[in-house]
Amino acid sequence: TALTPHEQTMVARRRRLLGPAYRLFYEHPVHLVRGEGAWLFDAAGERYLDCYNNVASLGHAHPSVVEAIATQARQLNTHTRYLHDTVLDYAEALLASFPAALGPDAGQVMFTCTGSEANDLALRIARAHTGGEGVVITSLAYHGVTSALAELSPSLGEGVPLGRHVATVAPPDLYRRGPDMPARFAADIAAAFAGLARHGIRPCALLVDTMFTSDGVFPDPAGFLREAAAAARAAGALFIADEVQPGFGRTGTMWGFARHGVEPDIVTMGKPMGNGHPVAGLVAQAAVLERFAATARYFNTFGGNPVSAAAGLAVLRVLAEEALPDNAAAVGTFLAEGLRDLAGRHALIGDVRGAGLSIGVELVRDRATRDPATAATTRIVNALRQRRVLISASGPGANILKIRPPLCLSRAQAEMFLDALDAVLREASAAD
Ligand code: PMP
Repeated sequence: TALTPHEQTMVARRRRLLGPAYRLFYEHPVHLVRGEGAWLFDAAGERYLDCYNNVASLGHAHPSVVEAIATQARQLNTHTRYLHDTVLDYAEALLASFPAALGPDAGQVMFTCTGSEANDLALRIARAHTGGEGVVITSLAYHGVTSALAELSPSLGEGVPLGRHVATVAPPDLYRRGPDMPARFAADIAAAFAGLARHGIRPCALLVDTMFTSDGVFPDPAGFLREAAAAARAAGALFIADEVQPGFGRTGTMWGFARHGVEPDIVTMGKPMGNGHPVAGLVAQAAVLERFAATARYFNTFGGNPVSAAAGLAVLRVLAEEALPDNAAAVGTFLAEGLRDLAGRHALIGDVRGAGLSIGVELVRDRATRDPATAATTRIVNALRQRRVLISASGPGANILKIRPPLCLSRAQAEMFLDALDAVLREASAAD
């Protein structure tokens, strides 16, 4: 399949109009015009199985969210400096999805438009609360686009320097580090805060994506974050859970941190929060917000507007009505079992790990050395795209297939994914 003349023109126009910082997916870019459930449709009407977009978590163009946005937009869209019921109803419903320490009686919500803004705000709050600056993150973390967060996002590459108040720790990689990983991960965090303190930088926060998505998807063993958070708190830092990727049911529970039986001091969220409408924010214990609120006023023009609140409220309603976290757990388990079955037939698969519909499949050149199969992974991602199945890869060796379909994925669609992957793995081994 080749690009149409119109698509070739689009590629050239993008380059000219948007500049070189924008990258397209795939050797053969995809031109999408419509979405429904887990399906995407290109300009020629061809259907693609979306196993990548973790934003339209309820399914693309979910009618309940579209309707809620349109209804509110027809009435009023202002900001949080006027009284409005919807934003309060939404805040209440959102807090109700948290454990008691962050729930409606103890937690508070602050609204932003992007996950980056939510993390940025969380850091300001943590600095005010602790009086410290030092932040510990994982070595291939991604936390956002602002200059403060680029300093906390080593996955952006060597050209983007980390802040001098930032220390990295190796990711909680059970596959490579073995069963004593949880204790070592916690010890690394303690050592990282101690190292910062030796340079006069006092502890502020441990900030992690609770599924470690950009590091390579590290969910197991459930519970290891408890020890990590305890190490951060012992150093005097807050534990900030970045739920931008795992939040809103993806891991089979509403929040990724819940799998670990730990309660964060601040939880940041975004991406699926409005199913595509830009809604993001954070939830924190009221006591944690106090010092920040005493010294700063906060106003975000678009954050928490009635249209965004209506979208967010509709998302929470649909998650419950369609039992999507449960579906993510059930179909995720089915998919992971199917992937382990494929591992029995394809030596390229070194490890399969995940929670719900956040799954990583690590491809290795040799199961003994665990040498990353980087080139093969790129070929497989592109071959899946040719079969109209969309995924991506992550990790330091770009050799971990990142599978994050909408939470409404059916078993039949999971089977389609497995069949397509089986076929491209067979082609890959025939090519070697
Ligand atoms: N944190 C994590 C873990 C993310 O994956 C992302 C986005 N990829 C962000 C924060 C930033 O969110 P946004 O792009 O909405 O600013």
